[in-house]
Amino acid sequence: MIRGRLLYDEPMSLHTSLKVGGPADLYAVPEDSADLQDLLKWLSADDIPWLAIGRGYNLLVRDKGIRGAVISLERFNRIEVVSNEDYPPIETAGAYVRAGAGADNLSVVRFAQERGLGGIGFISGIPGTVGGAIRMNAGAYGKGILEHTQCLTLLRDGAVREFCISDLDYGYRHLGLEAGDIVLEALFRLQAREADQTEDEIRKDLELRRSKHNVGLPSAGSFFKNPSGQAAWKLIDAAGMRGTRVGGAMVSEVHSNFLVNAGGASADDFLRLSATVKNAVFRISGVTLQEEVRIVGDE
Ligand SMILES: Cc1cc2nc3c(=O)[nH]c(=O)nc-3n(C[C@H](O)[C@H](O)[C@H](O)COP(=O)(O)OP(=O)(O)OC[C@H]3O[C@@H](n4cnc5c(N)ncnc54)[C@H](O)[C@@H]3O)c2cc1C
Repeated sequence: MIRGRLLYDEPMSLHTSLKVGGPADLYAVPEDSADLQDLLKWLSADDIPWLAIGRGYNLLVRDKGIRGAVISLERFNRIEVVSNEDYPPIETAGAYVRAGAGADNLSVVRFAQERGLGGIGFISGIPGTVGGAIRMNAGAYGKGILEHTQCLTLLRDGAVREFCISDLDYGYRHLGLEAGDIVLEALFRLQAREADQTEDEIRKDLELRRSKHNVGLPSAGSFFKNPSGQAAWKLIDAAGMRGTRVGGAMVSEVHSNFLVNAGGASADDFLRLSATVKNAVFRISGVTLQEEVRIVGDE
């Protein structure tokens, strides 16, 4: 018996920032780790596939939706300071903070700020949860969240285990997990930092985002990864794609690596626009762009 919320035929357009995507057969919100383990046992007994998500800020769900279950970890939102004694000492009078996968990035930064800790202010403006940020190695200004992460608590093969980040493979917008791994918690290594200094970091980040990323329409942030040493938006501009539209999906006029829902877009519009942009960029520069956005659902 699952204690959490279960919704059937739940439109994924309600759970993604692009506001597109057909229904998930089941949308499950487990209460805690034991509930999640019960849910997974039930799903695997019936051979039902599943996908863990955060807040859907980096997800493009196809129009036919998702066969199987979507698992939201929104209830896993606990944040706490953890004793240094259990982990390698941190120089500069820092401390470890453990955050549940469902905690918002900004809540973690604020929690740390209130305790005179910091160093991860760059995630404050990245919309989404700790689980999504860890999975994507989300980052900004050349920094990635995994550089500030000591350990991850994963649910792997039905068991809860802690992994040192140094034992995992990660890089730009990439974390090498095994299929079926669910991030339950992340342990961040933080430095002592005046609250004012963190406030300044948050304010500068939000100002920069307001001036450069304020596309004013639903998006998933940068749609494509930056190819090594190049900026995807420059390649898209060079290919003349700024403002290009397919149905309701459009290359933003404000930031050409943002594909936006200009009104009534379908997932198929985004997929066709993405293909159009990739073809144009390849023709002009010979570079094959790769989607940063995760594309999921029934083809
Ligand atoms: C306006 C805007 C600005 C953005 N700016 C940035 C930016 O500056 N930098 C940046 O990196 N990103 C940016 N993004 C993209 C997005 O915010 C990040 O990728 C974010 O980390 C996604 O978090 P989420 O919780 O919404 O994850 P989701 O989109 O729900 O999921 C992302 C991926 O992680 C997986 N996942 C989520 N939770 C778990 C879990 N607990 N266990 C296992 N897998 C999981 C999902 O299956 C999916 O593959 C931006 C998006 C928007 C809309």
